[in-house]
Order: sequence, then structure tokens, then C-alpha cells
Amino acid sequence: MAQTFASRQLRHQRAMDNRFTQEHRTLAQNIGRIVTRSARLPDLTVPNTRERRTFIRSAVWEGVLRPYYLGRGDDPFLDGVPQSPYAALIYDGIEGATRIAVQQEIAVTRRVVKDDTVWRWLTGDRAFVLEYGSYDPFHTWVDPNGYTLSDRVWRNANEVRARIDRLLDYHISQGTSAVKMAEILEEFLTVGAGSVRTRTPYGRSGSYAARRLARTEITAAAGRATVNASLANPFVSGIQWRLSAAHKCCDVCDDYAAGGPNGDGIYPPGELPTYPAHPHDLCSLLPVTVGSPSDLVDELRAKIATGRGDNRQGLLNENWLVQAILNGVIGQIIERILS
Ligand SMILES: [Zn+2]
Repeated sequence: MAQTFASRQLRHQRAMDNRFTQEHRTLAQNIGRIVTRSARLPDLTVPNTRERRTFIRSAVWEGVLRPYYLGRGDDPFLDGVPQSPYAALIYDGIEGATRIAVQQEIAVTRRVVKDDTVWRWLTGDRAFVLEYGSYDPFHTWVDPNGYTLSDRVWRNANEVRARIDRLLDYHISQGTSAVKMAEILEEFLTVGAGSVRTRTPYGRSGSYAARRLARTEITAAAGRATVNASLANPFVSGIQWRLSAAHKCCDVCDDYAAGGPNGDGIYPPGELPTYPAHPHDLCSLLPVTVGSPSDLVDELRAKIATGRGDNRQGLLNENWLVQAILNGVIGQIIERILS
């Protein structure tokens, strides 16, 4: 079963990666149109003048790249709502990865909670109230360098822009035809991270960093969802860091998979190393249930019977848990539960 959820996460990653490729193919075609409109007959080359290059650069940024990556305003995640196609891709990726992680958490728990009364109590409705004060929603999480998700999107948009500028400058100066440039642009923006191309003066891939950012955000969302759900879930006491079958020795992941208090890669949920450990990390996480779940089932059943159920009621309701994690509310709830 663990493999099923790990492979579902990978399939989700691949689907988002394919969407990324499709969208960048369209970007390349739109840029190709701008270049073609600036070309002259008979050979469809672009006049190598400063004015023409400046015009093309500006049209590519304002007309294609900026709307795609950032949207109309300055913040691609305004109040957490995606404002651009790229932000929407990342959001859908985060939402999907969070949901799969939550479903895994629920499935793992279901195996040890056979009592239907307790199970209904855990997975039934839970009012989604926003009375918990401060938030920590997904779009405000800050990376180790102090950048929010919007900052990271900005950095990557600028990176793509600089790479395309270099490509256009080079090929305009070489007298490459607009038709040929459009072809080169398409490969430049859609080439996968793993592909190897001939070295060029402007690099191999224009969208590598943007693709890597999307992948890393989606994987990280799966990790945060597993940690948050496991912290809130009374039936889970640990998270196991698991290597993928495709993993080749040796990097920090080998240490993590053999780490934890007992050297079996199982950590208390609050002490899991930062996941993913590196870009393109294929490791997966597995919630590990408590040693004696039946004691906890008996305790909860007794509480429910006397109407003294505690504040964990409805915690494993799938839709509630997904929204609580995405909105950052889960952090405050965990504090209440643990205090
Ligand atoms: Zn790994």
C-alpha cells in the first residue's frame, strides 16, 4: 500500500511536469510569433539593431513571460490565490500532493482503527472555523534563504527571461532565420531536466530552474502534509523516510533512510529531516502507526460514549484536513492538541 501512495505521488508529479512542458511549448510558440513579426523578407532574419532587439525583449517579457509566470500584478500568489498560469500549476501541484498525502495518512490509520464508531468520529464532519488567530498558509512559507513562494517565482521568471534574452541576442547576431529560431526556442523551453543537449553559448535549457521549482514545491507539499497530518493524528507516532527503488547510493538520503532513534529511518513526526532533501528527490514518506492502537481506540470509544470526545473529532476528515494544511490552520490545532 505504501508503494501505491508513493507511486501516486510520482504519477501526480509527472502529470504536472507534462503540463509544464505543454505550457512552455505554447510560450515558445508565442515568442516565436513575436520574433517572426520582427523579421524581414526574403530570408526572415531579424535586423540586428539595438532598437529591434530591445523591442523584442520587451515584447517577450511583457507579452509572454510576465503574464505567464507572474500574472497581471506583482504577486503571483495574491492572498494565496494563484494569479498566473504558472502559479496555478504550482498551486494545483501542491493541492494534489497534499491530498494524496492526506489520503495515505487516512489509509494507514484505517488499518489500525477497526472500530466503526471511532472511525466515524475521526473522519466525520469537522467545522472549518478560522478562529485560530495567525495563519501559516502555504504561500507564506519561507525557504532557508528567506524567500516566499512568490519571491521564488519571481526569481525563476527573471532567470527564464535572462536565458531567452541571451538566446535571442545570439541568434539575431548570427542571422538565424525566425523560423529556425522558433524551433530552437521550443526545444530550449521544453527540454526535460534530464536531457542532454549540445552546449550552446546561451545554455541548454531555458526553463530548467522553473521546472525544478515546480517539482520541488510539489514534493515539499507532500512532505509538509505528511508531517502536519501525522502531528495531528493520535494514531501515528512516526514517519519513515524511504528510498525509492531507483535511488543510487550514496547521498544524504541514504543517511536519512538509516537514521532516526532506532536507525530504521523512522522519526518522530516533528523531527523528520527537511523533505525533499534535494531537488529531484524520489524518496517517499510513510506514516507509522503507534505500537498499541487498540488502547487508544478503547480510550476514544469511552470518551465518545460519554459524550466527552476531545478536540480531535473530525481530524481525519479528508477535505477538512487538506484545507487545514493548505491554509496553515492545522498548526494551531496541533498546538492545542499537544498542549
Ligand atoms: Zn532522497
